[in-house]
Amino acid sequence: MTQYQISKHFNIPVEINGVINVKAMLDTGATANFIHQDLVKTHGIQTILRKEPLTTKDIHGQPLAVVTEQAVFRLRTHSHIKTIVMDIMPTGQHSLVLGMPWMEIHDPWIWMADRDLIFSSQYCQENCLNIDPHVRLEQSPTRQENAEVYGVDRTTFADPSPYVPQELHPFLDVFDD
Ligand SMILES: [Zn+2]
Repeated sequence: MTQYQISKHFNIPVEINGVINVKAMLDTGATANFIHQDLVKTHGIQTILRKEPLTTKDIHGQPLAVVTEQAVFRLRTHSHIKTIVMDIMPTGQHSLVLGMPWMEIHDPWIWMADRDLIFSSQYCQENCLNIDPHVRLEQSPTRQENAEVYGVDRTTFADPSPYVPQELHPFLDVFDD
């Protein structure tokens, strides 16, 4: 039997609009891309109304938030740069959640143990790896009516204990990171 340890999230340093330096979490459990509402407000990041409200729920199927606004900004990681649209919601301790839509489009090589990415896809070579003055907007999914978020921190909940088995309550801290 292979033992394991609780591990940290896959966070990468990113830069928003050339000036805001934060960390973004890669999350294969998220079926959308999210930015924290406080970050949007604090830095005056441009927002647009969502064409259709997006209902989000956690791994238990519990509702998290209904997203009605999106943020539009330039996201850079190393030499990879792209103007993107992300859904705005409370994402706990995470500034950005790069979910499956972002990973599918950019399709990076991912080294889990080193928490490293290389952008080598055809899409990135044509769209993201040169600074193009004619920025393109990625279309956000509109047909999808709701989204699941598995990586959102428990601070989203007032009290996580109803969602965690009684015998694990002494270890609730380990779900924090
Ligand atoms: Zn790319």
